[in-house]
Amino acid sequence: YTPDLAADDSLESINRYNKYLNAFVDTVDPAIVKEQAKEATQRWQKNQQKSPLDGAVLGYKMNFCTTDLRTTCSSDMLADFKAPYTATAIEHLEKAGAIMGGKVNMDEFGMGSYNIFSNIGVVKNPCGVIGKDLNTLDDAEARSAGGSSGGSASAVASNMCFAALGSDTGGSVRLPAAYCGIVGFKPSYGRISRWGLVAYASSLDTVGILSRTVDDSKLLYDIMAKEDVKDSTCLTQTQRDQIAKAIPDSTPTQSPNNSKPLTGVRIGIPQEFNIAELSHSSLIRWRMGIQALKDSGATVLPVSLPNTKLAVGAYVTLGTAEASSNLQRYDGIRYGHQSEKIDGKDELYSHTRSEGFGKEVRRRILVGTYVLTSGSFDNYFLRAQKIRQTIRNDFDRIFCRPNSITGSEAAEQDPTRVHALLTPTSATTAPKLIDCIGDQVDPINAFMDDMMTIPASLAGLPAMSVPFGVCSEDGFPVGLQVMGQYGDEDMVFKVARVIE
Ligand code: GLN
Repeated sequence: YTPDLAADDSLESINRYNKYLNAFVDTVDPAIVKEQAKEATQRWQKNQQKSPLDGAVLGYKMNFCTTDLRTTCSSDMLADFKAPYTATAIEHLEKAGAIMGGKVNMDEFGMGSYNIFSNIGVVKNPCGVIGKDLNTLDDAEARSAGGSSGGSASAVASNMCFAALGSDTGGSVRLPAAYCGIVGFKPSYGRISRWGLVAYASSLDTVGILSRTVDDSKLLYDIMAKEDVKDSTCLTQTQRDQIAKAIPDSTPTQSPNNSKPLTGVRIGIPQEFNIAELSHSSLIRWRMGIQALKDSGATVLPVSLPNTKLAVGAYVTLGTAEASSNLQRYDGIRYGHQSEKIDGKDELYSHTRSEGFGKEVRRRILVGTYVLTSGSFDNYFLRAQKIRQTIRNDFDRIFCRPNSITGSEAAEQDPTRVHALLTPTSATTAPKLIDCIGDQVDPINAFMDDMMTIPASLAGLPAMSVPFGVCSEDGFPVGLQVMGQYGDEDMVFKVARVIE
């Protein structure tokens, strides 16, 4: 199986399914993709491949800047926007020989959980669709692909590309991965450069990877996880070396040779994730996942993250505050949409924004502006920052490995502290699209589906959603989430491989 055959398969899937799924927005000319795949195949044949990823066709979320196709963020505000530069993460992939298949759909500016807030329409979940006659499908039964990286997840799950980039601010890679039955990985904050990723909430935004297997995810991760002077929050090589020294490798020291893969590894089960909204099948699958880890030699123990219930509130406060600041740049003057109703500076701003932004983005800008006003700052923004710190502390108290950012200490031998955590990724399987859309839907409710993913985002921890079977009632995929200490991506990969 060679890159040119794989590329043909991807192009064929795009041809067949994209009209229905609405995952790819802009695609590269198939002739160019084929040509590049042919060249990669020749390199492989001569054993001169640029990397293990040479010739793989990838999809990039619409909020990654590329000079070739548009970077719309699924917003009318940027409908014609072509970036003057390419995101660092994508530059690394291109150097490794990856082929851009195109840019994929998303919730506008990354705001949403179901990919229903896009200027070019919803993304559908490919599960149960592939191989069927698309004309016979009942629209009322169509499920969400999840959001905000719904296009990335739908494209990978339907084999339109080898893997895709997404962005994860509060769960936007992990939730769609769980809904579509694929792997979704959010590395530690600062691991992969955000240069060229359009900002939503800068202190939370991470580049994420959607792929069909854990090993595929690791391939892309290894290529992209590098220092970058263009992103001041990206870890420097010195910091990376320090982390590696504090977390020597993913094998705990007491692990004897030739033992089971997780011998010596302690996995925590945070009790606060056992929420009332958790569906029966998520609970059953979670238990089965715990058993699988035990069977692989891990010690599993209950742990407590007492401030988990405060995470969603803190996230909404901080995320909207940062968004309101970041989105100020769309003023109709520098780039993007400009209203024709120019009758004064302030009017130009407001007309441009009313016309360019969708309703969810406008709602969040308003909330974010409110929490930053002098009257609410202490009560909302500062309080949310404090909660964020207590959530970081909660994690540091239960992980046995040190957090190089907070300076928490190592306790590798402490039997009450753990190497990784296992939780469900979401409370339920993918919801039907008709249940997500419309005025009867409370926008706050959508955040409940991010409850499991937001804590790792607030603490900046690496977290991966791994597909783990299907729900016995509806047959849709269930995802389990593995979280690790800051900088301990290796442990996340190691545990994820076992349950994959
Ligand atoms: N669903 C969350 C939100 O709407 C997370 C989004 C994300 O991670 N980009 O903000």
